[in-house]
Amino acid sequence: MRIDLHTHSLASDGTQTPAELVEAAAHAGLDVVALTDHDTAVGWPEAARAAEAAGIALVRGMEISTSYGGRGVHLLAYLPDPTYPPLVEGLDRVLEGRNARVPAIVEQLRETGVEVTEADVRRMAGASAAAGRPHVADALVASGVVVDRREAFSRYLNPGRPGHVHRYAAELVTMLETVHAAGGVTVIAHPWGRAARGALDEAAFAALAERGLAGIEVDHRDHTVEQRDELRGIAANLGMVVTGSSDHHGLGKVDHDLGCFTTAPEEYARLLELATTAARLSGRRTPEVVG
Ligand code: AMP
Ligand code: ZN
Ligand code: FE
Ligand code: FE
Repeated sequence: MRIDLHTHSLASDGTQTPAELVEAAAHAGLDVVALTDHDTAVGWPEAARAAEAAGIALVRGMEISTSYGGRGVHLLAYLPDPTYPPLVEGLDRVLEGRNARVPAIVEQLRETGVEVTEADVRRMAGASAAAGRPHVADALVASGVVVDRREAFSRYLNPGRPGHVHRYAAELVTMLETVHAAGGVTVIAHPWGRAARGALDEAAFAALAERGLAGIEVDHRDHTVEQRDELRGIAANLGMVVTGSSDHHGLGKVDHDLGCFTTAPEEYARLLELATTAARLSGRRTPEVVG
């Protein structure tokens, strides 16, 4: 069984429609795929129809932008009731924060002599629930300033670069509890990759486990082999679920092909068991795994 629990579509900053993504997952030989767009469930219905048609199991999830000790931490939430009002409100604030940042990024880029308009960025964001830095990157690619998203981030959009603008993120522990109250389960995405680096040590994971955090995304491209070994040890010490996934973004991220990292079937089974318990305790109407 091949299981990939972290992917993005055009509903956030991937480059495939939810249906295309699910079909690509089936073609890649995956048995289970989770759609985890940033801060939104808008891709779920289309992905669910495509999963039924393609005969692949779909886990409906999302990747929520949170902050912990002043650093950005991405929280994977699986199978929550997407209509739970505090969750809807929490996600709306994050999406608004991302949208509101666009004019400031455009202005800062203009000051450094890079001409890109807010309309260009909005056009690139198209079907996305909000316009993020990857869409600014796409606008920079379209106008010939850079060749790809990676160059756009390293030259303009990463922290410390001239087009970087801070944005709002939800408080991690509050969001963790909100997802659980919505009947979902949570996993910290790529905890030692990129922006999150240094935010979470074993003591922090232990405290989050106390608050109901189910798992750690250990096997991810942004981690070295040594980091993965160390994170696996922490997860074992704390009795947490270990996941692995591609964090696929279509053509938007190189070296993140579907299934490049996967989750062990027994770890997936544990996660689903915890989801069933969370759903029951919440009393919410939560989505089932499709297929
Ligand atoms: P935002 O949430 O709008 O600040 O945008 C952050 C998103 O940009 C991340 O979640 C990644 O999906 C994406 N990203 C970050 N760095 C890169 C990169 N070097 N190349 C492509 N995408 C990136
Ligand atoms: Zn992304
Ligand atoms: Fe992420
Ligand atoms: Fe992601």
